[in-house]
This record gives sequence, C-alpha cells and structure tokens, in this order.
Amino acid sequence: MSRYLDLAFNLPLSGSFTYRAPEKECAVGCRVVAPFGGRSLAGVVVGQRDDLPEALADPAALKTVTRVIDAEPLFDQHYLELAKWVARLYLCSLGEALAAMLPGGRRDSESPALPADEIPSAQPLQLSDEQIAAVEAINSTAAGLFYLYGVTGSGKTEVFLQAAERVLQQGRGVIYLVPEIALTHQLVETVHTRFGAHTAVLHSRLTPSQRLKQWKRIRSGQAPVVVGARSAVFAPLPRLGMIIVDEEHEGSYKSGATPRYHARQIAMKRCVDEQASLVMGSATPSVEAWHLMQQQRITRLTLSRRLAGGSMPAIEVVDLKPVNGTLSRELTAAIEQTHRQGQQTILFLNRRGFTHFFFCRSCGYSMRCTRCSVSLTFHQSRNSMVCHYCGYQTRPVSVCPDCGSLDVGYSGFGTEKVEQDVRTRFPSLRVQRIDADSIKKRGVLEQALSEFRAGAIDILLGTQMVAKGLNFPGVKLVGIIHADTGLALPDFRAAERTFGLIVQVAGRAGRYRPDGRVIIQTLRPGHDAIRRAASGDVEGFYAAEMAIRQQLAFPPFSRIIRLVVRSRSRGQAQNSAQQLVDQLAPLMRDGSEVLGPAECPLAVISGNHRYQLICRLRSFDRGHAAVRDVVRQSKPLSGVYVEIDVDPVNLL
Ligand code: ADP
Ligand code: ZN
Ligand code: ZN
Repeated sequence: MSRYLDLAFNLPLSGSFTYRAPEKECAVGCRVVAPFGGRSLAGVVVGQRDDLPEALADPAALKTVTRVIDAEPLFDQHYLELAKWVARLYLCSLGEALAAMLPGGRRDSESPALPADEIPSAQPLQLSDEQIAAVEAINSTAAGLFYLYGVTGSGKTEVFLQAAERVLQQGRGVIYLVPEIALTHQLVETVHTRFGAHTAVLHSRLTPSQRLKQWKRIRSGQAPVVVGARSAVFAPLPRLGMIIVDEEHEGSYKSGATPRYHARQIAMKRCVDEQASLVMGSATPSVEAWHLMQQQRITRLTLSRRLAGGSMPAIEVVDLKPVNGTLSRELTAAIEQTHRQGQQTILFLNRRGFTHFFFCRSCGYSMRCTRCSVSLTFHQSRNSMVCHYCGYQTRPVSVCPDCGSLDVGYSGFGTEKVEQDVRTRFPSLRVQRIDADSIKKRGVLEQALSEFRAGAIDILLGTQMVAKGLNFPGVKLVGIIHADTGLALPDFRAAERTFGLIVQVAGRAGRYRPDGRVIIQTLRPGHDAIRRAASGDVEGFYAAEMAIRQQLAFPPFSRIIRLVVRSRSRGQAQNSAQQLVDQLAPLMRDGSEVLGPAECPLAVISGNHRYQLICRLRSFDRGHAAVRDVVRQSKPLSGVYVEIDVDPVNLL
C-alpha cells in the first residue's frame, strides 16, 4: 500500500494535490473526501506514491484523506490518459475533466421523457440496396471513420443498428449517441428492444446512484450497448468497438460548461486510440464534417431515398413581407386543404412567447432585461414580460418608461401569438402548442404527442421540439412560420444553422406518404440558406458556405479559441480582456491572429458584463500553447472570470 495519494479536485486549479493515504486501501480511480482550504471536498485519486514530490514545501503540513467513497476504482490508467487529453485540449484542470466524465458529476439539463407509443421493431428490417452497401462498408473494417449522409427518413437508424449488431457479435461494445434523450425516446426504445438486457440507457433523470450503477454495469462488460446524450461518449466500455453519433450536426453535442468539449471530438479521439469505428450520421452534416468528407478523411455513405412509403415533400417559399400577421394566404389554404383530406399539420417557429419586442415609436426605447442585454418577450398567458436568459419578469407597460409617450407597441411574434392566430382562423380545428412554456407540467408533452399520433389533434405547433426525431405517420403539411429568425444572429454559423433547421423541420412531412408538403414563410426568400434548403440543394449550399468560410478564414479553414471575460464590473471585464489581447497578440505566428476584445453579442447575462477575444489560429498547436501559457500566468482580479472555449460552436 502506498503512503501518499495524488488527488484531483473539480476546481480550476492545475496540477494534483498530495495527501497521506488513509488506512483503507484506495486505488487510482477511486473517489475520496479530503480537507481542502478549510472545506471538505470530494476528489479523485489520480496517482499513488511512496516518496513525496520534491517541490512540496512543508511535508509536516500534509493532510490525510478523510474518507474513501468507492471500494472499486471507477476507471483505469487508460481512461486517466483520456481525461488528461481532455484537460490539455480544452484547457481545464484534470479534476474538471474528470468531473465531466464520471458519474455523480455534473448532470445534463433536465427534460421530460417521451412515451414510446410506437411499438419498435425487435426484428431487423429487410435492408434496401443502399442500406446494405452502407452496412457492408462499415463492417469491412474494425476501425474506420464513416459518415452516413442520408436524407431525412432514409433509414439511417436501421443501418446503425445492424452495424452495431455485428460489433456486438465480435464481443465488442457500442456507444450510441443521440442529441437529447427526451426527444429521441422512440429511438432509445428501439435500441433497447433490439439489444435487450445488454443495454444501458444514460439519461439525465438518473439519480447519482442509478448513474453509478449503470457505470459499473458498463465497466464490467455486462452492458456492451450504451445509449445516451453527450456525456455518454465517456462510457467506460472495456472493449469499445464502435461509437455512433446520430444527428451529428446537433449543437447539443457541445458542452456549455467547462470543459467545453464536443462529443464528436471525443468520439474521434477514442475511436482512434481504441481502434474502434466511428459512424456519424445526418441529413445536414456540420460544415466541419462535410470538410472531412471532402478531404476523404471520413468515408461518406449515402442514403438517397425514403423507405417507409414516403417521398421527399414538395417545398414552397412564401414571402412574409406583404403578409399581415403570422399566416400567409398560402399557408392558410394549405392547412384547410390538409384538414379536409383528413391529414395533420405541424407548424414550427423557433421562438416562444407572444411578441418579441416592446418598443416606443417616439424615442425608440425597447424593453430589455435589466440584468441581460436581451429584449424581453411578452407572454400573454402570464401577462408579463419575460427574459429568456435569466427568467426575470416584469409587468407590461402601456406608456414608454423613457419618454412617457403613449405611442408604443409590440413587434415580432412567438408561438403564443401563432397559437392565437391559428385558433381564431380555424376555430373548429384542434390545436396543441408544445414549447418550454406549455409543457412545464409533467405529462403534458407525453399526452400531446400521443394524442397527435392518434389523430386527436389536427395541428401541432411548437419550437424545436416538433422538429426533432418525431415520426408521425399522419403528417402531410409542415409550415415554417418564420424561417429567418436565426439569420440575423452575429455568428458565422447562422446560415449553416438556419439551413439545417429548415431541412430537418421540412423532413417531418411526407415520411410515410408520397404527397408531403412544406411551406416556408420568410422575410428573406432570396437568402442562400433558405433558397437552397427549399430546393433541396444540399451540395450547393455546402459548396457556397465553404467558399465563404475559406475567404474569411473561419473554421474549418482555421480553428478558433474563444476567451470570454466576465465580471459584474464592465470596466474590469474590458480591461482584463484587453490585457489578455496585449499578451496574446505578440505570440501569434503564421497568419494566426487575435480579434478583439469586443463586447459579446450577449453583452450582459444575469448582471455579468461579457467581453470576448477570438484567437483565429492557422497553426493550432502553437496558438493553443500560447493561449494556455497566457491564461495560466494571468492573475485575474477577484470577481473576474475567464471562460475558455476551444473550437466554439456558438459565438454569442
Ligand atoms: P432517418 O433516421 O434516416 O431520418 P429513420 O431511421 O427514422 O430515418 O427511418 C425512417 C422510417 O423508415 C422508419 O419508420 C423506419 O422504420 C423505416 N425503414 C428504415 N429502413 C427500412 C427498410 N429497409 N424497409 C422499410 N422501412 C424502413
Ligand atoms: Zn419613448
Ligand atoms: Zn435576463
């Protein structure tokens, strides 16, 4: 038994901390409790030693581990190496990396689970020729990188499942990643039915002890199939054979907190290290993945047809400019016609609430959150103005708070307003809205979806929730109420996201019937992303987008590290950001550069002022090392925090 243990804590402090070992045997990979700075903290054993490190100033002051949490280690040496790699790449401490990877650490955001009201098929389906070719390509090697590029509804799931089957037969394990468990319940059920008791489902509603139990099943080899969202990419399978990344383009694969890891990057790293295959899939790959396919670093496998009796829907674009309200003549007529034919409609709008802005026509005042720099949204149902970032609420006003003018109004609209318009226009149709506001009560979402599936609802209206993963046989029409809400965002991925979202939402129509129809309402019918999404010109969109990225030296033609400096004090945030720029700029070489400091587009969140600098790197290793050294040496003022985002997907 060794005399000393090195511990890593979930704190932004680099290095590990040496303690006297407790009486009880305690291996690397166990969690323990130890005194730290007057507190009692949980840490992870990352090393054992019999001699003290030379640098240790005062061996007499050495403290002893108070308690051992795990009898068995949670991970092995190989896994520790992965944690070190995560810490190095995303510039966090080893303890922070481990906290994100291990059970009982951070939890993903809560969302309700959906019902499984379609009996998933336990038997493998008879594959189409394209599916057969894809499965054979994947199974032709033990360690390859593949992208299943298939139109919506083309049967990607069945390819994933049959490829996974083969890996399991060879005695190796599979991780099946989905963007969000709550919205992919059907899929999770399918996997569960297909692979039975060998499956571990990691979802956010597991308690820490349930999570730990699943972790142990996985580690022991009892559950060679793991299904889960982002953090399941860290599942400790003893013999990993394949990682599947379903809907690879989804933003939820990127973590929003330290370490800001991307599940796709982790999956690639693991597959290379553990000689496993990576199989990603989407109808709208990320531009990064598209680039890798073009460079032939990933093998592209194409599925071009729908198999369940559907075909690609007919898509029309309608200019919203002359339209008064939320429903164009064309969309109104289409809803009517769909209903007459006994079919159903999905309406999509990526914005909650009733109206988006309160503004004054006399002085231009607009009502914003006092703690965040975003407009408040009017929610009619609660009769209040709500901040969608921090939850701040205030009463609506009828007089401008700034100049006293009565000439005030609301503009922009959200799902609540669309619901009102639809109900007014179609009083006899059964309408159900699903968004974060309407499904707060437990069971509402489950009920709404099964009623819609049963045909008891005519129009399902909602935000992204109606866009993802749902398969409803009776849906003929999809209406996108306002396609360009995301285009104005100051983010170089705005067009990519808008394009992907339109294609995905449109893909809900005609999955099981040949006459699906989509109407896209937009203020910018000429915009490339909208035009090409409407005409189904996926290749054209990527070609054009790639040319722009290259010209502006944005990813994938460079890599970005974004630093956000936040503080209650605007001046301190700005000054600290400026200091970082001053230190970093001279270290940039070979065309790499530091942009900023600038206010973040979301300049204030919950009372914190935010400044960002963007390091645009031509040679990643060198620039990354410079950022690491500068951030490590910088001593931020108290109350000033620096967030590091390597390869950010969101620049707001
Ligand atoms: P994707 O993930 O590509 O959008 P899905 O995997 O959800 O598409 O498949 C769409 C529908 O096609 C599902 O209802 C599925 O059962 C069906 N399907 C898949 N493969 C076949 C097949 N070989 N023969 C018949 N139907 C299939
Ligand atoms: Zn005013
Ligand atoms: Zn706010």
